[in-house]
Amino acid sequence: MENQNYLNENFGDNVNYEEISHFDNLADSWWIKDGKFKTLHLLNDIRVKWINDFVNIYKDKKILDVGCGGGILSETLSSLGGLVTGIDMSKKSIEIAKYHCRNYDVKPKYYRTSIELFEKTSSEKFDIITCMEMLEHVDNPISIINSCKNLLNDDGVIVLSTINRNLKSFLYAILGGEYIFNILPRGTHKYESFIKPSELYKIIIHHGLDLIDIIGISYNPFLEKFYLSKDVNINYMMMIKKKNYNY
Ligand code: SAH
Repeated sequence: MENQNYLNENFGDNVNYEEISHFDNLADSWWIKDGKFKTLHLLNDIRVKWINDFVNIYKDKKILDVGCGGGILSETLSSLGGLVTGIDMSKKSIEIAKYHCRNYDVKPKYYRTSIELFEKTSSEKFDIITCMEMLEHVDNPISIINSCKNLLNDDGVIVLSTINRNLKSFLYAILGGEYIFNILPRGTHKYESFIKPSELYKIIIHHGLDLIDIIGISYNPFLEKFYLSKDVNINYMMMIKKKNYNY
């Protein structure tokens, strides 16, 4: 029934409602640091540092966080001075995100919407667009990147992160993460939705965008720590700008 309600609103055809139900069901856990979203809490600091080293967030940058979930990344970017808008299709996640920052003086604005619909209704453009750990949960990542581009200021940057598709990522992200070390809820990831950096690169170039940098994120399960590395075989981030513009 709930899916039916979703469908009545025009969020476009790039929302996988099975995925959204998965996140709706987990939404109460967003802020339990040792809970179902432990991995996102563990990697938050290093990804924020990587972004901030490129684009100084302290200067009222307008930021769009696509697939913001319960606001783990949005809140940190906001606390650094960014003017953050977080969007997500999971209604419960958006409720949790709003509730969690209710007492803050400066807080992100949160909306339950798809980026495709947001693009149609927003007159704003953004200096930084983050879309982290989300592309592997949609049917058509190209559509997401296209909307990101259309919402980006000419001198802005897009930051993407997702999971590579190969034997190593299968062993570590699915088998290791979901079944051996249990740091991800089972069923979080589907191997066929993983995206190779070369595939993302092709999409980016095709859309008049340019790659600034790519970096791997590796995990040490014994220290329970993520760290940046040259190994892009599992999780990786890409920093992207518009072609012929400087960020
Ligand atoms: N970006 C956050 C959360 C990642 S989890 C972080 O890295 O901390 C993936 C999120 O993407 C979930 O909250 C899920 O609801 C959202 N999502 C999946 N498909 C979506 C879509 N089509 N539109 C908007 N959000 C989506």
